[in-house]
Parts: sequence; C-alpha cells; structure tokens
Amino acid sequence: MGETIFSKIIRKEIPAKIVYENEDVLAFRDINPQAPVHILVIPKKLEIENTTQIKGSEHAELLGKLFDAVNEIARAEGISEKGFRVVINSGPESGQDVLHLHLHILGGRKMHWPPG
Ligand code: 5GP
Repeated sequence: MGETIFSKIIRKEIPAKIVYENEDVLAFRDINPQAPVHILVIPKKLEIENTTQIKGSEHAELLGKLFDAVNEIARAEGISEKGFRVVINSGPESGQDVLHLHLHILGGRKMHWPPG
C-alpha cells in the first residue's frame, strides 16, 4: 500500500477532527460529511488498501478492534440506539477514493436503501 492522505492524518502532518484513537485505530470526521454523523475509522499500522486484502487468519484481532471503535464512537455520538450504517468501499466500482482500508460510520438521519 502506498502513501495516502490518511497516512498524513495518522502522522498528524495534516489536521483532522479526531474522535477516537488508540495504538491500532484512529477515527476522525469525514471532511465532506454525507450525514450529520460521518466518521472514518482506520487501522494505523495495517498496510492494506481495502477488503480484498483482508485475511481472517491474520487480521481477525484488528477487525475486532475496528468494530470495538465503531461501537464506542456510535455510543459517544448518540446514534447507537437509533441505528447507523457502516460502509466499506472496496475497489474502483465501489467509489473508493482513498486506498487505505477505512470504515465509514454514517448516522444521525434516516438511511435509504438501495444505497446507490
Ligand atoms: P472512499 O470514497 O475512499 O470510501 O472514502 C474516502 C473518504 O475520505 C471520503 O468520504 C472523503 O470525504 C474523505 N476524505 C478525503 N480526504 C480527506 C481528508 O483530508 N480529511 C478527512 N477528514 N476526510 C477526507
């Protein structure tokens, strides 16, 4: 995986509105929010571009940590009870722009389906 804008956010070289951080996971508000709550949750050390490179045998613990973060953030943002959406764009046709695995948390409004 090459350098991305998220690498710079992890190294604090460019600013971001960080809402959660530990040794393995960083979460910050999306710069172009698509819902009242729109937060990106990313692994800090894992160098993979998207879900196509996930291996259960290697990444199970990290995936658990990412979802622990999702749930803690959702509770802190007050969207846990009403519900929220977690999106992972993976590859060109999905609309993925940043090639660093990331989970979108979207909430604070009624979501539509199909997602388009
Ligand atoms: P993707 O389309 O790759 O799934 O999502 C990338 C997301 O990163 C987009 O929602 C976009 O708004 C967000 N984004 C891109 N550059 C930046 C940035 O510099 N700062 C923040 N906070 N979000 C960014």
